[in-house]
Amino acid sequence: MSTDSNSSNSSTTTSRISSFVFMIVLAVMVLSLVAFGLAAWAYMADNLTSAVFLTITGVIAMTLSAYVLLQTRRTAVATKLPPAKVMTTVECRKCGFKNVRDFQRGDYVYKELEACQKCPDDKTIITAIYKEIKEKEKTYNF
Ligand SMILES: [Zn+2]
Repeated sequence: MSTDSNSSNSSTTTSRISSFVFMIVLAVMVLSLVAFGLAAWAYMADNLTSAVFLTITGVIAMTLSAYVLLQTRRTAVATKLPPAKVMTTVECRKCGFKNVRDFQRGDYVYKELEACQKCPDDKTIITAIYKEIKEKEKTYNF
């Protein structure tokens, strides 16, 4: 009998990290738009040198922000992958009572734990520690 009581659904951490970078990217993008606007204004004022300079600045800023946006999206996807969950199997040698729980700090194989639920005279021991690799949930909602 297994009791899967604690199902972890944590997917709100990635959006918080990227929001800061997103703000910077947005600022750079606005800056590039300002540069384009100034370039147009300089062009109309017959100041071609300034127009060219501002256009180049705008293009560089735009490319930079686009590049950073792509980079952060890539890392956001990478961090979206849930870290492999480490599981610990606790077993009673006497009655064979088996329980799988999350790995806890200090766990090691053959470590004696609390008394068995069914036979209080016997202690349960850790028989296995393994990584649980969950398949990534495919939820694309852009
Ligand atoms: Zn037992």
